[in-house]
Amino acid sequence: MDFRLSEEQQMFRDSVRGFAETHLAAGALARAHREEHPWDIAKLMAGQGLMGIAMEEEDGGQGGSLMDAVLAIEEVAQVCPRSADVIQAGNFGPVRVLAEYGSRDQKNRYLSKILRGEAVICVGMTEPGAGSAVTDLITSATPDGDGYRINGSKVFTTHAQYADVMLVYVRFGPGVGGIGSVLVERTAEGVKQGKRSKFMNGEEWVTTYFENAYVPPENVVLKHGGFKKQIAGFNVERIGNTARSLAFGRYAFEQARQWALTRKQFGRVLAEFQGLQWKFADMKIKLDAGQLLLYRAALNADRGFPSAEETAIAKAFCNQTGFEICSEAMQVMGGMGYTEETLVEYCFRKCRGWMIAGGSIEILKNRIAESVFERTFSQRPSKTDKS
Ligand SMILES: Cc1cc2nc3c(=O)[nH]c(=O)nc-3n(C[C@H](O)[C@H](O)[C@H](O)COP(=O)(O)OP(=O)(O)OC[C@H]3O[C@@H](n4cnc5c(N)ncnc54)[C@H](O)[C@@H]3O)c2cc1C
Repeated sequence: MDFRLSEEQQMFRDSVRGFAETHLAAGALARAHREEHPWDIAKLMAGQGLMGIAMEEEDGGQGGSLMDAVLAIEEVAQVCPRSADVIQAGNFGPVRVLAEYGSRDQKNRYLSKILRGEAVICVGMTEPGAGSAVTDLITSATPDGDGYRINGSKVFTTHAQYADVMLVYVRFGPGVGGIGSVLVERTAEGVKQGKRSKFMNGEEWVTTYFENAYVPPENVVLKHGGFKKQIAGFNVERIGNTARSLAFGRYAFEQARQWALTRKQFGRVLAEFQGLQWKFADMKIKLDAGQLLLYRAALNADRGFPSAEETAIAKAFCNQTGFEICSEAMQVMGGMGYTEETLVEYCFRKCRGWMIAGGSIEILKNRIAESVFERTFSQRPSKTDKS
């Protein structure tokens, strides 16, 4: 066992860090508060080979591993937190499911553009009545000729307002086995979007309605029985959220560390107060522990998908850790940490969202408990429960 990065990994990490410091450091504060997707950064990243890092070269990817993608997102996040969203969109999100299960034709039509930084794909899983219980989704795909008619709605979808295409989880039939996915273009007939609303992290979201929207056969990604495959791919998205939680925590930690070394009260720098030193020691322990869990999940996946259990453990821990460290860093920085003059408050707000998004901490713990006891626990009421 070796806890050090290989020489190649170190070189890659250093080159991403160098790129980020040269191109992303300036403007990081302003970028975090801009509402629109940073398309300029996406194109820059594409030119630098930071999109599709773990995807096949024949698909326009870089032929690397999940660990390479994790190193990239961590380095970018620690220089410009907002730009890490671009790495997420081009490597970890539904783009990875498209690369894995999409047909050649689907990849030609959608993936190439995404990897050039000119488009994004979003994933519509959550519905008004199906959040944590995602398999309760009711958005239906009904046969119409060779294709399907889609009816239903999706909420909270990241990138929904400007994504070219949505990977929509749909029901072809009853039960978990009836769930699959289709690609629906935002501008297709029968697709409508509701009023804009905002998450606490500053991102906008809208409800997307499908009113008899036609999906041609060539836009079906996975038919009946697709759910397990989709969720296996979704574990990659979870790793991206895990890595960003930890990296944002590290970013806030570093800001607070610098602050504690220079800010003086009672005639001494803050770093000399033991009450604050212990906060830093606790933060450091959590950062190191989270790093090991994240790297275990990513390294064991190699070029495939990470294990559900290792991903759940890493995400639950790093989501909590990222949030706690941002909060403690803010405390150390006093009033300044609570302002928009630094990105600590931004990292705090973003980390809070990942405790809910992509599998809430509670749902991940349910999954971990199933591994602990080597059995499943239905979360549904028993048939005799009438409440
Ligand atoms: C920032 C952000 C981005 C998002 N992006 C997307 C996206 O791109 N695409 C998409 O489809 N969705 C997205 N979501 C939605 C997200 O996946 C859901 O919010 C999440 O799955 C929780 O569903 P819910 O909000 O309906 O909460 P609910 O399912 O109603 O849960 C409410 C609370 O109860 C807890 N809970 C529920 N069931 C159990 C149980 N069995 N045991 C213990 N606790 C339980 C939950 O953990 C939570 O704390 C996003 C959400 C956020 C916050």
